[in-house]
Amino acid sequence: MAIKRETADKTVSLNNPCKMAYTMVSTTNGIKNEIKKGTTIITAEPFTFVLSSQHRTERCDYCFQSGKISRCSGCQYVYYCSKNCQRRGWITHKVECPNIKRVQPRIIPDAGRMMARIIIKLHQGGADERGYYTPTKYRTFYDLMSHVSNIKEDVSKMEHFTSLSMVLLEFLPKDMLPEPKELLEIFGRMSVNSFHILDTDLTSLGVGIYLGPSIIDHSCKPNATAIFEGTTLIIRTLCDLPTLDWTKVHITYIDLLKDTKTRRAELQQSYFFWCDCERCNSPETMEISAACPNKTCMNPCSSTDTNCSKCGEKFPDDFRDEFDRVCELSVYQLERMANIAYLDASRMCLERQQGILHPYNLLVVRMLEMAVAAAIDLDRWDEAEVFAAQLVSRYLFYYGETHPMTGQMYFSWGKLLSLQMKGVQALEVVTKAAQIIKVAFGENHSKMRTEVKPLLDQLMAEYHMSKNGY
Ligand SMILES: [Zn+2]
Ligand SMILES: [Zn+2]
Ligand SMILES: [Zn+2]
Ligand SMILES: [Zn+2]
Repeated sequence: MAIKRETADKTVSLNNPCKMAYTMVSTTNGIKNEIKKGTTIITAEPFTFVLSSQHRTERCDYCFQSGKISRCSGCQYVYYCSKNCQRRGWITHKVECPNIKRVQPRIIPDAGRMMARIIIKLHQGGADERGYYTPTKYRTFYDLMSHVSNIKEDVSKMEHFTSLSMVLLEFLPKDMLPEPKELLEIFGRMSVNSFHILDTDLTSLGVGIYLGPSIIDHSCKPNATAIFEGTTLIIRTLCDLPTLDWTKVHITYIDLLKDTKTRRAELQQSYFFWCDCERCNSPETMEISAACPNKTCMNPCSSTDTNCSKCGEKFPDDFRDEFDRVCELSVYQLERMANIAYLDASRMCLERQQGILHPYNLLVVRMLEMAVAAAIDLDRWDEAEVFAAQLVSRYLFYYGETHPMTGQMYFSWGKLLSLQMKGVQALEVVTKAAQIIKVAFGENHSKMRTEVKPLLDQLMAEYHMSKNGY
């Protein structure tokens, strides 16, 4: 996104329409402009966005709302929740619609649709659109990094580009299709600058490009987060910041439940930079650690050591081999369950991991995630709750105590407790979830208003009723 910015950021001195919230705090110790955790530091509407085809028949193509939706009578492919959304989406869809229809029954891949939408937007004067990140500083689409030279050296990326070019050649009106060189620039900007647009439970619904927020760099230990209200991007602080300095605001571009080697490789491959963040530079003790053979010792051990560095317990001779076997099995099963989680397999792996992998080893954490998902799928609330409770402590460790993922995990745990009529404990856990979600999403976010608050009110009412003997 913004790593090693190639172009100078543009500055204007005019009033601009950017929506930005600064918290001007004037304290007795003289600190001004301090930004408290849980502050929205920028909101932005997408430059372009596309709903993932996976959600096409369940959600509005324009606002991403689920519920009652009707099909576009032109292409019979996209759905809208209302005439209003259809009208607002029409500026882009009027170009897509006849072409989606023409190429049917073939389906345009999501990346192809996104790229087509960027081209349509640029064709409609989108190059002039400004995304402000301070009252005077902005970026346009052409200020975004494209990393074309890196992409040219990457065989699989070039293959992807070639196949998308073929799709666009067929899909877009001939007069709209840019020259190959320009097309590659667009592809690069799209690849490096797209945000996943997330639902309130943090599942990806689609992708979007947000000009202003593309200024924000990555860290594996982020101090800010991107959340969404519909397709509106909201960046919120997760820690107190002394001042709003965009070079010091960091969100994460990737899944944080990966070890340093994997994260760095992924960032290098997708975003073309070597991550030099605090987490990447700290010794990786926990992520890939082994359990100490001494059951009372929680020291994260290295599988290559002969003795625990803390309690001195000696590892059995075959420990290293067993550790490698369990890791291999876990990786295999996690890959196998990438699309669907199985309770038996997750349980079996968790058992095998016990006493071999450290309880905070990321392979354990990811297996617990599978176990929760699988148990919920089977309506096994009791079992899901046990796994969710274990995940909460891991999320606190890896995401920190204000991250949306941690809040969401607390909330899931609370819901599972509530489903089992464990009202008192559910109230306690959902209260904690609400505190985190208030920071991560904000009090007025729909997640708070339509999900967290109603459950909290219900649990509170039940609690008072039971206390009064009803
Ligand atoms: Zn809609
Ligand atoms: Zn249509
Ligand atoms: Zn890092
Ligand atoms: Zn030990």
